[in-house]
Amino acid sequence: MRIEQEVKLDFKDVLIRPKRSTLTSRAEVDLVREFKFKHSDQTWSGVPIIASNMDHTGTLAMAKVLGQHQLLTATHKFMLEADWLSFLRENPEALNYCFVSSGTGEKDFNNLQNIIENVGVQMICLDVANGYSQHFVNFVRKVRAAFPQHVIMAGNVVTGEMVEELIISGADIVKIGIGPGSVCTTRSKTGVGYPQLSAIIECADAAHGLKGLVCADGGCTVPGDIAKAFAAGADFVMLGGMFGGHDESTGEVIEKNGKQYKRFYGMSSTEAMNKYHGKIADYRASEGKSVYVPYRGPVTDTVLDVLGGLRSSCTYVGAQTLKELSKRTTFIRVSQQINEIFNTTLITDSIGDR
Ligand code: 5GP
Repeated sequence: MRIEQEVKLDFKDVLIRPKRSTLTSRAEVDLVREFKFKHSDQTWSGVPIIASNMDHTGTLAMAKVLGQHQLLTATHKFMLEADWLSFLRENPEALNYCFVSSGTGEKDFNNLQNIIENVGVQMICLDVANGYSQHFVNFVRKVRAAFPQHVIMAGNVVTGEMVEELIISGADIVKIGIGPGSVCTTRSKTGVGYPQLSAIIECADAAHGLKGLVCADGGCTVPGDIAKAFAAGADFVMLGGMFGGHDESTGEVIEKNGKQYKRFYGMSSTEAMNKYHGKIADYRASEGKSVYVPYRGPVTDTVLDVLGGLRSSCTYVGAQTLKELSKRTTFIRVSQQINEIFNTTLITDSIGDR
């Protein structure tokens, strides 16, 4: 056993220090980035925020609306080919903003192949809870060999050496995050994890050294966290909970005590496993929870709130483009983030208040 003494940080441990700037308006900030990928021949440009490939958020309705704002959606891996085809017939322009997701089983691979061949999706999200297994590395190699021109995002991991391994094995983007998610219980179930801000900083450094990219996945609860993730070096940021509870998220609106909610659950929760596998296998424990999130109407309002916050972050440090944000950021360690005096005494309904 060994103890690493260096403190690792989370979003809540830091703030971004403001800097002198010549920008006069948030409207001058450009959030669009263009990426060339290490393995794939493609380039992509857009706002590098991705709706998580969870049942609730990785929907085609989400892809349609986020695509209109140049944001991405990783669809959940249970999406049927027929649904893809009818969606794209009506929304062909949305294709550029979608990842198709896959696990590592034989069935997953066959499904992935069908969707790529018949639907034409160009970006692949290979997602497992634990990206450290040799089985996963082999699967990334297999998918890269089968689809040399496609963009491959693979994860999740939280340390530089595994980021390097996945990039060398064929990933263009490595997904970072073990345990930070809003409906994740991995840390309490297993004691395993890594504070997300430090994970992003360390993994981005490792990836960029190899011309790879990283996607920070999980733990963002407010627009400021997204800004911190980009400032820490993330090329993409994936959101689950923040895109939860909208019209475009799966599930009916439920009324409880006069308030409206939608059901949201982790993809390793008992609820998800019962839904897709009939039950939880005896040898494993659930690592996700189920919650009711407040119903929040159309996701466009949340997107505008997030993008407005991000433009403002860039303005505070004088970054004219999102790309410049990390170069212009100095994080300061803090012991308090926000004034919470009215959080418990006053409930506001305004959009964006969380
Ligand atoms: P959020 O943005 O809600 O904080 O985090 C979303 C991320 O949590 C997802 O993209 C995924 O990586 C992770 N996640 C989703 N479901 C589960 C789960 O059941 N268990 C764990 N450990 N992580 C999950």
